[in-house]
Amino acid sequence: MDINSDSQDKKIIEELITKKIKFYKLESIINDEKRANELRLKAIEKILNKKFSHIRNYSMSPQNTRPNIENMIGAVQVPLGIAGPLKLSGKFAKGNFFLPLATTEGALTASINRGCSVIKRSDGANVRIIKSGQTRSILFKFSDIGLIPEFIKWLKDNFSQIKQVAERKSNFLELQKIDKFIVGDTLWLKITADSKDAMGMNMITLAARSIGDYIEKNYEGIRFISSSGNLCMDKKPSAVNLYEGRGKMLVADVYIDKDTVKKYLKVSSKKIIEVNYRKNILGSALAGSYGFNANFANIIAAIFLATGQDLGHVVEGSHGFTTMEIIDKKLHVMVTLSSLQLGTVGGGTNLETQKECLEMLGVHGSGKVPGENASKFAEIVAGTVLAGEISLVGALAAKHLIRAHLEHNR
Ligand code: ADP
Repeated sequence: MDINSDSQDKKIIEELITKKIKFYKLESIINDEKRANELRLKAIEKILNKKFSHIRNYSMSPQNTRPNIENMIGAVQVPLGIAGPLKLSGKFAKGNFFLPLATTEGALTASINRGCSVIKRSDGANVRIIKSGQTRSILFKFSDIGLIPEFIKWLKDNFSQIKQVAERKSNFLELQKIDKFIVGDTLWLKITADSKDAMGMNMITLAARSIGDYIEKNYEGIRFISSSGNLCMDKKPSAVNLYEGRGKMLVADVYIDKDTVKKYLKVSSKKIIEVNYRKNILGSALAGSYGFNANFANIIAAIFLATGQDLGHVVEGSHGFTTMEIIDKKLHVMVTLSSLQLGTVGGGTNLETQKECLEMLGVHGSGKVPGENASKFAEIVAGTVLAGEISLVGALAAKHLIRAHLEHNR
């Protein structure tokens, strides 16, 4: 039988609807990803008695999406805007960068663009990575709390062996340290590792599993419960990610002279500082927030979506501070990003449009020295966050925010 015939397609669609064929099994039956996507969508259309003419139109190769999606039926499109150039003098990101921003949040791109103009007029922003390391906390249970002191000594004595075990399954991962936390008979071993250009969750989870198995096998009286015990802390707001950081911790700053503040932000430095202090510091403290900032999350989400990052990590990305003061008559604006999780390899970075966005920034794939591309990318993101914060806090101080939103959204 001609497996590409219309009648064959109709039969498959019926079998998908009646669940004779499972959606996820389709590729193994017809061995054609594009057609499998189309047939699943047609089945859904028939079940719902609706037509979806846009979802089925996409340019990416369905084969290429295999590591990223199951039961694919098509793609959603998100508008992509451009802001910049952003002038940076980082350790890794030096020069001017055009910023791809995927968002449906009107005024966000315009706001970041305005912040880039302010930064350009101020001779660029400085940015540095102050800490780097992916984390996972491995969960164990002691059979007897009397073992705890002895185990801590054993762990110290066996660190180099455990490091070897952790690094065995990856050419890139380097174990940096293991921290211990204990509650009753429960133990967390929080491992921190350099994952180079990868965001690193898969790599470090594999390493965590290997360490857990090794310890359970080689130390009597301890049970390995889970590769992750939520002290990592992955994709949930947490104090530990604010003060210890996860992924990359960065600081970016710029000194803006009085004329530039007036010309671009249309309000005095004093008023901007007042809004920042009372809103971002006092307001966030009172709310018990870990985000002492105006809008890190939206900015990070727009870059992450454009570049194939794990969007769950916008949560970590929202942790951090925007701080301001006057230094030598200039407005000194600083952003501290506590937990920036990103990569230039792995995840969604090889999807065609996401790859192009990373290429626009000059950071797709592995760095010449592994880790350099992810570091450069992190510095660009921190600079973009700085641009966005300057513009947004400025707009709030000038009471322009609602006006800007209405102008851009209506
Ligand atoms: P993650 O660990 O970020 O979740 P992956 O599981 O896709 O993502 O791992 C990244 C993959 O990229 C690994 O297979 C790793 O060997 C490979 N890789 C290639 N170049 C690099 C690099 N420069 N840094 C890190 N990983 C790299």
